[in-house]
Order: sequence, then C-alpha cells, then structure tokens
Amino acid sequence: MITTIDPATGKTLATYDAMTPAELEQVVVQAAAAAASWGRVPVGERLAALTRLAAELRGSKDALAALLTAEMGKPIREAEGEVDKSAVTAEYYAAEGGAILADEPVTVDGVRAWVSYEPIGLVLAVMPWNFPLWQVMRFAVPTIAAGNGVLLKHSPNVTGSALAIERLFRAAGFPQHLVRALVVDEPDVPATIEALIADDRIAAVTLTGSNRAGSAVGAAAGRVSKRSVLELGGSDAFVVLADADVEAAAAAAVRARFTNSGQSCVCAKRFIVEDALADEFVDRFVQGVRELVVGHPTDRGTAVGPLARDDLRAALKRQVDESVAAGAELATGGASIGGPGYFFEPTVLTGTAPGMPVFDEETFGPVAAVAVARDADHAAELAGATQYGLGLSIWTGDPARGVGLARRITSGAAFVNAVVASDPRVPFGGTKRSGYGRELAGHGLREFTNIRTYWVA
Ligand code: NAP
Repeated sequence: MITTIDPATGKTLATYDAMTPAELEQVVVQAAAAAASWGRVPVGERLAALTRLAAELRGSKDALAALLTAEMGKPIREAEGEVDKSAVTAEYYAAEGGAILADEPVTVDGVRAWVSYEPIGLVLAVMPWNFPLWQVMRFAVPTIAAGNGVLLKHSPNVTGSALAIERLFRAAGFPQHLVRALVVDEPDVPATIEALIADDRIAAVTLTGSNRAGSAVGAAAGRVSKRSVLELGGSDAFVVLADADVEAAAAAAVRARFTNSGQSCVCAKRFIVEDALADEFVDRFVQGVRELVVGHPTDRGTAVGPLARDDLRAALKRQVDESVAAGAELATGGASIGGPGYFFEPTVLTGTAPGMPVFDEETFGPVAAVAVARDADHAAELAGATQYGLGLSIWTGDPARGVGLARRITSGAAFVNAVVASDPRVPFGGTKRSGYGRELAGHGLREFTNIRTYWVA
C-alpha cells in the first residue's frame, strides 16, 4: 500500500494499492503491444497527437497544478509553470519533430545511403518527485514522438501525479496503453526495476534521480547491454566574477537557488564569488533570501514551500550542522521550522570550502553555500571541485570571458549571465557523476531511436 502525504501539513492525501506481479505483467504486455503499433504510425500523425496533448495540458492546468502542489509541496505558481512548460515542450516537438526525425541522406559514390531515426519500442522511465510532471514530460514527449511507448515508475509520494499523466495521454487521444504508470511499493522497487530492465519487451531505460538509484539502474542496464540515460544529481556552481553586475547577480542567485524550494537538480548550490565583490554580493544575496516568503504552497504569495518529505529535511539539517561544525558560518536560516509540515528556513552559509558537506555533497533544499575565490583562476578551480557536472552559471561584465572560463570547467551546460534552466530547444544532461545521455532538443528525441543506416546499391 502506498500512502501519499501533503508535505505542507503532514496529513495523508490518498492511498494506492501496489500492483500485483500479475497486474504488472499485464501492463507490460499491453504497453509493449501499444508501443509496437505506435511505431508504425506515420510521424505526422504522431506529432499531431502532441498538439492535442498540449491542449489537454493547458485545459487541465488548474487541476494538475493543484495535484503537484498537494503531493510534493511546490508553490502553486511554480506548479502552474510546470504545466505550461510541459505544454510548450509538446508544441515544440509537434513543430520540430518532423525535421529532427527526417531521413538524412549521406553522399556515398555509386549507392543511395541515408540515416533513419526509427522507434525502438517500450522505454522504462524511473522518475523522481521534484518536478512530478515536467520531469516525466521532458522524457516522454520526445520519446513518444520518436514512435516509442513509455512505462513510468514514478516516486511513490507522487503516485497521484503518475496516474494523472497516464490519464492525460489517453485524454489527448494516444493509444490506451502507450503510456502506463507502474504502481510499485518501496521494498520491491529495485528488484522489480531490475527484472523489467532485463525483460526483452523493454528496449531501454531512463532514470532521473539520485546517484544511488542511477548506479543501480545503469548497472542493471549494462548487465543486459541495454541503452540507458541517467539524469542524476548536481552541485552546480554559480560563479560571480569581479566585473559582474553584483546587483543583478545577487537577485539571480536567489532565483537560482530557491526555485522549487531548492529541490532542483540544476539549482545553483555553490556560490563562488571573487574576493573583490564578495562582501557586497553576500549582503545583497542574504537580504534577498531573508525577503523570501515561506508559506503554504497554495498561497500565491509563497516563494518557498515545504520540503517534499520529512527525511529530506533531516538530511539537509545534517549537512548544514556538519558544515557549521567544520567552520562554515550561518548568514541566515539554518533550522527546521516548527509546526505542521516539513518547512526549513531559507539558509545561506558563508565561508564554505571543499571538505564540508554543503560543498562536497548535493544539497536538495533551500540551502546556499558561499565560497570566496581569490581570483578568476581560483573560482574556476573551486567551481570544478565537485563530483557533479550539470549546469554552470557564470556572471561577468564580459560574456566572452565568461565563456572562456566555462571551457575550463566540466558541465553539461554553461550559462553566462543567466540562471540555468532546461528549455526544449537545447539539450539537457550531465557530465561526471551527474549522469549521461541527453534530454530535450533534437538530441533528446534521437536518444531513444535506432539510428539506422540504409545502404542501397
Ligand atoms: P531517488 O531516491 O534516486 O528516486 C528516484 C527514482 O528512483 C524513484 O522513482 C525511486 O523509487 C527510484 N529508485 C530508487 N532506488 C532505486 C533502485 N535501486 N533501483 C531502481 N529504482 C530506484 O531520488 P529522489 O530523492 O526521488 O530525487 C532527488 C534526486 O534526483 C536528486 O539527487 C536530484 O538531483 C536528482 N534529480 C536529477 C535531475 C536531472 O535531470 N539530472 C532532475 C531531478 C532530480 P522509490 O522512491 O520507490 O525507491
């Protein structure tokens, strides 16, 4: 039995029976058959269905947003944004999918040769709770455009969202079993996922989540030589160089860290500031953080809601306390907020450095770590001193210099004078322990295709 809990109150929202092995088997049979037929549907028809999906998303925006907020506590305005972004992505692929999937002629003397992007079948998706809709859609929309089917194993705390996504695709007119949610209870998850990965009816697997889960899924895929995409954690640097517009950088830093109550893989987590403007940056940043309204996520004025689960809050507290014990200073926040719900004070730690949990580990909540760099070289060194590499943000008065510095730091994306965010027009994914493979743009659409060579003499 799965119980979902409203993290703003700690009260039960709903309970769901986990599927029995026989029910799971039936879902796999149905989804595999649906994927096989869908792969034979002409691309144009597949893409037209995405336009209906976008309309369906917009039409059910209020109900969907309310569900996301209830299940994982994100501020309602952000939940609405998540629905909008999903709709925009469906529209993007409806418009661009034809060109991305078109055959590519290759010039070879004496023969007709081309590359074709063909469906691969049923793809298993293991997904996290932090963007219950968007995380799924940014994988599922291109994967379905490519002619595949989707089996979704979502986080248990967003089971209602998983089932809503299944209904959404049906309501948009997709085949009944093309996108199916698997309701699996926690102790059975690793074994169930491993067995599914090994199943011949599953063509590939994608996981968005922690390193722990990613390693398990990547290893299982490796054992059966199956393609996998891993979108894992991050501890991204937000580098502020001495020539930056400090006011703009500090305001952006607040957005970059506290979006989704700090629970995003691409939230900036480490703020590395050149010495010359460190004091001014910290003053402005801390001021901005103190002004964030913490409150019930359904209040439209709320900027920071609760964490999604109580154990996540406890893990964050440990990281803060151990970092303070190791010499970091609390500029603001640092504690759980009493009362119902899993709220944590928006927190800024200064004087952080390698060796402290808030610098070395991913912090998944409203906690920012500030470190001072002697100069730009030192900033690059600190920014790269992480096992992760997802999205880097550099702030400078000289964008070319920012790009030059970015080339010295490994990451899946580098943003200069902008907050890192995913966008359907550009690929998204990690380097180092942040994972491999790409979502979104043409790269995401082709990720789960058979890139097939035709050579006709
Ligand atoms: P998580 O504990 O890794 O869970 C993610 C999913 O993996 C859940 O559905 C979970 O199911 C499943 N899972 C866990 N252990 C598994 C195993 N051994 N085998 C198969 N599946 C397993 O992560 P989370 O706490 O929900 O999400 C937060 C993490 O996700 C953070 O590290 C964050 O940075 C990362 N993330 C990355 C991206 C990105 O795009 N790079 C985006 C968002 C989040 P159960 O919960 O049922 O075990």
